[in-house]
Amino acid sequence: MKFSERLNLIQPYLFAELDRIKSEKEAQGADIISLGIGDPGFPTAPFVVEAMKKAVEKPENHQYPPYEGTSEFRSAMADFYKRRFGVTLNPKDEVLALIGSKEGIAHICMAVLDPGDVLLYPDPGYPVYKIGAAFSGAEGFPMPLLKENKFLPDFTKVPENVARRAKMMFLNYPNNPTSASADLDFYREAIRFAKKYEILIASDNAYSEIFFDENNRPPSILSVEGAKDVAVEFFSLSKPYNMTGWRIASLLGDAKAVNALGTFKKNIDSGTFTAVQEAGAVALREGDGFIAEMRKVYKKRRDKMCEGLKSMGINIEPPSCTFYLWAPTPGGLSSMEFTKTLLDKTGVMVTPGSGFGQYGEGYFRISLTLPDHRIDEAVERMKKASLVVK
Ligand SMILES: *Cc1c(COP(=O)(O)O)cnc(C)c1O
Repeated sequence: MKFSERLNLIQPYLFAELDRIKSEKEAQGADIISLGIGDPGFPTAPFVVEAMKKAVEKPENHQYPPYEGTSEFRSAMADFYKRRFGVTLNPKDEVLALIGSKEGIAHICMAVLDPGDVLLYPDPGYPVYKIGAAFSGAEGFPMPLLKENKFLPDFTKVPENVARRAKMMFLNYPNNPTSASADLDFYREAIRFAKKYEILIASDNAYSEIFFDENNRPPSILSVEGAKDVAVEFFSLSKPYNMTGWRIASLLGDAKAVNALGTFKKNIDSGTFTAVQEAGAVALREGDGFIAEMRKVYKKRRDKMCEGLKSMGINIEPPSCTFYLWAPTPGGLSSMEFTKTLLDKTGVMVTPGSGFGQYGEGYFRISLTLPDHRIDEAVERMKKASLVVK
């Protein structure tokens, strides 16, 4: 039996050797601290769990949910966007419930792209953008995120013939993996570029609530005037409320694009469990205080870890958002060489930047999602290892 050619488009797994070294060390009794995991290590917000307990008891929640999501969830989403970003959305046709943004990101490619089309995506970046293009037969064109451009794409570097064939562009700020943020001026520029070439912008807003400067909160691209003509945004409940396992997110903005994804999805899935949507609505309405507490925890960890890096001769500015640190490898080591050396000397495992795309080479990513005592332990080991690479 021969399976779909599509499966051959998936890149070989880059970290097999790292996993082998890790298993080998663990077999020898080493205590490996893995700072590679992008999944909040905390349980879901307790008030959301309570809401779920009630919601799951209700027989009316046991049927197939409405395709576009419950009106309660979509209204809660629209109200959240109004309160947080000053964005007005019509819950009827500008909000669609998703089974997590990952699902939506993969499927919007199917709903928008045809063979011959180009998808612009950030590199380094969340791997699903690129695979979404490949699975829909489109051509992916990486937009490099470089330090000298504050990890923002430079639209003037997209060749004219590529821009003309481009049908969609992913943006992701606050950014995974670089932890960079974007301001409204950048979004205005992106929208000008998108309007000129008739490109749909798909903004992945998974980290908007993980920020550390109350006076400079990450904006939504939808708050730019005219954004809803060319842009949609993914908002996920996974990271702010520690709900990664629940699978709930939404697509917001341009009604035509929201409808296109809705039409596609209607034919292949039946939506997120109604009880999860009910609990999700509660998270959106009552969760501001909870997220504020989470931010404090991540901020402390961020500062500790920056100190740990400093002791290895790696000086980075503490990022203003996300629970990631993105740092250059010291001594001109490749991402993989550094990761192996660090793992070998300290038992601390990070993610090589090259795993996020070619422009991630020369960097590594640290997640701040492990419990405080593990972060402390990792920092202690870094300090003791005197791994200063000249
Ligand atoms: C975690 C993450 C997501 C996935 O979110 P889900 O809603 O849980 O699918 C999407 N984009 C980025 C950049 C992420 O880091």
